[in-house]
Order: sequence, then structure tokens, then C-alpha cells
Amino acid sequence: MTINHGSLSYLDPARPEPWASFIEQIDRVAPHLGHLSRWIETLKHPKRILVVDVPIVRDDGTIAHYEGYRVQHNLSRGPGKGGVRFHPAVALNEVMALAGWMTIKNAALGLPYGGAKGGIRIDPRTCSQAELERITRRYTSEIGIVIGPDKDIPAPDVGTNEQTMAWMMDTYSMNVGHTASGVVTGKPIALGGSLGRQEGTGRGVCIAAREAGIRMGVPISGARIVVQGFGNVGGVAARIFRESGAKIIALQDAEATVANPAGIDIPAALAHVAAHGSLSGFFGAEPVSEDDFWQIDCEYFIPAALEGQVTPERARRMRTKIIVEGANGPTTPAADDILHERNILVIPDVLANAGGVTVSYFEWVQDFSSFFWSEEEINARLESIMIKAFDAIWQTAQERRLSIRTAAFIIACQRVLAAREQRGLYP
Ligand code: NAD
Repeated sequence: MTINHGSLSYLDPARPEPWASFIEQIDRVAPHLGHLSRWIETLKHPKRILVVDVPIVRDDGTIAHYEGYRVQHNLSRGPGKGGVRFHPAVALNEVMALAGWMTIKNAALGLPYGGAKGGIRIDPRTCSQAELERITRRYTSEIGIVIGPDKDIPAPDVGTNEQTMAWMMDTYSMNVGHTASGVVTGKPIALGGSLGRQEGTGRGVCIAAREAGIRMGVPISGARIVVQGFGNVGGVAARIFRESGAKIIALQDAEATVANPAGIDIPAALAHVAAHGSLSGFFGAEPVSEDDFWQIDCEYFIPAALEGQVTPERARRMRTKIIVEGANGPTTPAADDILHERNILVIPDVLANAGGVTVSYFEWVQDFSSFFWSEEEINARLESIMIKAFDAIWQTAQERRLSIRTAAFIIACQRVLAAREQRGLYP
């Protein structure tokens, strides 16, 4: 029996995305799972969902309430792992989908984690630092019953950063009565964070792009690259691509879209964003329209902003050879089909942006052993894990003549469902 998103009574049927996209991806992989497909419904039912009220006193003395979530999609292979998002559009269906993609990503990379995600529906730009600290601490206390170094380990995502993780670690530690560094990853180095974590996702995007380029005969050096989203993921990836000899010819963030066919000076663009908060007003490139942005001729397109950006309409117009998904869920399933027909290769999120959670795994291991590695060692281990996963997924895709996304989902779902089967159902 096929169960769609509508069968979960707590979801608003009028707003099915992006959980519906995740379900569709699972449905597409089910026929490839052999006897394990018997367990497929497991992946369509998040294990645990916690919705919390986060009340705080604002700086002006008024009281505000925010809605917070922590979703543990699947814990068959280990503790939950996934970021915390602060964004005004955060909703339960989004957090569920993001948690589901974490289950797939962690299994595809062979990391010993399940999948989880959290978030608060809030615009952090409208809050003072003191308000953000109160919101983060109250949220952490509220979800404290389900997180922990052995239970579920949050990390940064859109709108959160290492300061957020420092407050979360401190709040959790105060509540349990001892310092528990391993409860979150993406922490400042001084609190048990890992070298290379902040760069891990962007670096992994570049490794995935390079591996795809080697197989497709599209070298990074000399390639023209377009990047959507110029934050932690897009900003780092753009910088590393440029250092590898590529030309970043267009960038988009939430407030501006700019292009420069001669190549954008990325350190200058990063300095502008650090000083002004966005690309708006950056003189090193010309403003371009939203419409034009999606049809710029390039070798690589890197969506690194939010989900649902590559729509069918945009997929028909894009003029790129390879898409490497820095963001989670940027391509809708219908757009995926169009890109496939148009021979545009998509390196999916669950592989391409897995560098962040891989270095988070290193951070968690280092915290447990209280023994910290050099940045060279971290980057070398990241390369090795990503290349191994890339090779296995690529080979499955070639052998079975499937998309890279379907191949990644096959490998991941087989691992998750084999664990489910071997553990058996309790009672
Ligand atoms: P971020 O907040 O640091 O940056 C997000 C960027 O996207 C900003 O430049 C913002 O201006 C831009 N943006 C927001 N809305 C936009 C829109 N409508 N159009 C164009 N640009 C827009 O966030 P991040 O950590 O870089 O995360 C970006 C994506 O990568 C998310 O999908 C996230 O889930 C995913 N991701 C992040 C990590 C990580 O380690 N941070 C790991 C894996 C995946």
C-alpha cells in the first residue's frame, strides 16, 4: 500500500512540500530494494516528532512565543544527527523532510547515525543577540528530553552558527550537571569544535563536483560556475572553486543577484557580505534579473540556498552541464526528471553536501576521545570518505542505469532497512 503525505494527520494537506518530495523520492527507490521493500513504510513515518513552544521576554519587555521542532526521522543505525534551522518559513513538513534527507545522507556516507533535524520559525535578523540567546537556550531546554551525545546531536543549519551551538552545548550541560561537549557539533574550537567543520560542507561540495567532473570530462579548472546562496555552504564552495582555477560568473543571495562573465573576485564578495550582510551593493559584478540568472551558460550550477529552488520551469531553462546540490532538497522530483531528459547531471544533496555531517562526525568522535586531530588529517579523512561514497554510488548508477540520486537512495535505504530488519520490531 502506498501512503502519501496526506495520511499523516498532523500534516497540513494544503502545504505538502517538501515532505511530499521526500516521499516521492522514497517511492521511486522502493522497486529497487528487493525483499527490503517490505520495510519501506518505516521511511515514510518519522520515528519521533517534538513540537515545542519557545516563549521569551523580548528586549522591549513584551512576551513573544515561537514554534520550535525536533524531528527524529529514523534511529535504526545510530543516534539522530542533523542541523537546527532558524528561518521564518520553518514548518513541520520542512523539518520532517530535512530529517528524512539526513537519514539517507548519513546512511549513504556510511556514518553511524540516524537522521534528525530541528528548527524554530523565526527571522533571526529581527532579533538582538540577547534575544537569540534566550530563544536558543529555551529551545534547547525544551528539546533536552530527546537530545544528547548518545541520543541526537544537533548542528548548525540556515540561520544558526557556532555561537548558537555554544549556547546549546552550555544549556544542555547546565541541565545535566556536567559539560557535555558531544551534544552538538559545529561548536567553536575552544569548546571542543573541530578544525575544518565550518568549511566541511563547502569543501565536500567541491570534492563531489571534482569527482563528477573527472568522470564527465568537465575539469573544475577553467570551468564557469554559478552559485545560488552565498552563506556557509555557497560562500566556502565558491572560494574553494576559485582557488582550484574555476571562474564564479554569477552569485545570488536572498537580497541580490549579480554576474560578471570575467569571474567574480570571491574574497572581495565575501568581505562585502561580512561588512553589509548581503551581496546587495557589491561593485565587483553587475546586477542581473532573477529570470536571466536561471539561464546563464555555465559548466556547473551550485544551488546552496533553500529547498525547492530548481522547479520544472527553471529546469527547462538552465544551461549547465552539472548541478551539484549544496542545499538540501533544492530540486523537485518533477524538475529532476526534466534535467535527466536534458542530460544535465545532478549530484544530489545526500552525497554532495555530506561534507558537513562527515566533519561533524569527526568532531563528535574527537569529543568522545578528548583527542583532537590536525586540519590536514581531517581534510584527508573527509576526502577519503566522500570519494569512497561517490565511487559506490556512481558505480550503482552506471550498473543499473539510474540517476545518481536514485543510486544514492538505493544504497542508503538498503543500509537503513537492513538495520531495521536485523533489529526486528519491538515488542
Ligand atoms: P546560510 O544561512 O549560511 O546561507 C544561506 C544563503 O542562502 C544566504 O546567502 C542567503 O542570503 C541565501 N538565500 C536565502 N534565501 C534565498 C533565496 N530565496 N534565494 C537566493 N538565496 C537565498 O545557510 P547554509 O548553512 O549555507 O545552508 C544553505 C543550504 O545548505 C541549506 O539548504 C542547508 O540545509 C544546506 N546545508 C547546510 C549545511 C551546513 O553545514 N551549514 C550542511 C549541509 C546542507
